Amino acid sequence: MRFRFAPSPTGYIHIGNVKTAVSNYVLAKKYNAEFVFRIEDTDKERSTGEYERMLIEDLKWLGLQWDEGPDVGGAYGPYRQSERFDIYKKYTDILLEKRHAYHCYCTQEELDEMRKQASAENRPIVYSGKCRNLSDDEKRKLEAEGRKPSVRFAIEKNATIEINDLIKGKVVFNSENIGGDFIIVRSDGVPVYNYIVVIDDALMKITNVVRGEDHLSNTPKQMLVAKALGFEPPQYAHQGLMLGPDKSKLSKRHGITSLRSYRELGYLPEALLNYLVLIGWSIDTDKEIFSLDEITGELKIENMSSSPAIFDFQKLKWVNGQYIRSYPAEKITDLFLPYINEAGYKTEELDRAWLESLITVLQAKCELLSDIKNLIGIFLEDVPEPDEETIDLLRTDDSAKVITEAKNFITETDSCENFYSDLVNYVKEKAGVKGKNLFMPIRGIITGCLKGPELDAAVPLIGIEKCRKRIQYMYDKFQAGK
Ligand code: GLU
Repeated sequence: MRFRFAPSPTGYIHIGNVKTAVSNYVLAKKYNAEFVFRIEDTDKERSTGEYERMLIEDLKWLGLQWDEGPDVGGAYGPYRQSERFDIYKKYTDILLEKRHAYHCYCTQEELDEMRKQASAENRPIVYSGKCRNLSDDEKRKLEAEGRKPSVRFAIEKNATIEINDLIKGKVVFNSENIGGDFIIVRSDGVPVYNYIVVIDDALMKITNVVRGEDHLSNTPKQMLVAKALGFEPPQYAHQGLMLGPDKSKLSKRHGITSLRSYRELGYLPEALLNYLVLIGWSIDTDKEIFSLDEITGELKIENMSSSPAIFDFQKLKWVNGQYIRSYPAEKITDLFLPYINEAGYKTEELDRAWLESLITVLQAKCELLSDIKNLIGIFLEDVPEPDEETIDLLRTDDSAKVITEAKNFITETDSCENFYSDLVNYVKEKAGVKGKNLFMPIRGIITGCLKGPELDAAVPLIGIEKCRKRIQYMYDKFQAGK
């Protein structure tokens, strides 16, 4: 078996497309098959070498590996469509020769006019077939007018096209309802996707095409081209599309969609892979966290979900958090380092063992690696400025008592066994407040915010000196002069 992923490098890769890539990769692994990576870059205006470079970089970051592709070569190359024009030309000549295709001289204006008319008459927009039977004389005349022809595929009349889709089951089309004779080579000589995908899949000996169901309507056209060229079509499997929580196509409106943004925010590749497999298959297990190696054996093409996958941002975050939590301090600290640097702290000046202890306390609070940026300040700043929410809390009457007694505690106590519990006990007794009204202001005084790690674990890492400074600072800010 041979699987393939064939993206167009026209932008950062969208997470819906990543799901297709992952599905093919995982299936190739499962069936011990080859995985081919092909670049579909015939859209010259939108495809760039830079996008291709980033696409490969992002997919490799995710952990995908291909056996054949533009960067690794292979027996069926070249693997970039822009380098295969000679091959396509050969097949176009065959189709023209066998009258499965013909030159069409209609200009854009004429086609627009036909389209307008069809809309006005409420007819489907289908090419009329005007140029299908032009005589050589007529062709010469049109060429003499300076018209450059495109090449159209001549669709068989009233043919039934049956797709035995591994996910969707049997899907039947009639050739009368697939949009009419379609262009396979544009007048500028550039061949189009629906045509060359067939040639590439056949010549690259692809046996299985797993892709989004938005391509299902292209499939009858591709099957007719395959038939005309005498190719055996691959086995198709069209997956449900990836939708946003409101069940419309997943887009930027719903949240971040490019793989690169997920990477930058600190999603881990193994968490993304895990999540994409989770929503791509109906898996007969309650287990939600698994590695590819663990799960691959249980996956089958037929068990891919045929219903659309609703992309649940919260769930993905949760999965990511599970991975962050599960890693040993040393490994996760390395992964956090770039984010701590980004937050403006010089990690090379920090004691590694101390940093790892902080991370051990904080990793459970992070769902994304970038979450560390907001959490680590409480350890690294001398005195963190309180945020708005904390300022409001520290202005309440109970907080005033807590701040005053915390200040008394540091004035009266030089050394103590356990700074945090001694502080809490002292303030509780002297200020006469308890529960939330005691613990939240203490958290606010020491960390400048109301959320964060467990204080009994955090305070020893912050250090007594810093804690004393912070209590003094908050006292001066909220209580001095009152
Ligand atoms: N280049 C096409 C895409 O990215 C490939 C579709 C296919 O898998 O046939 O949508």
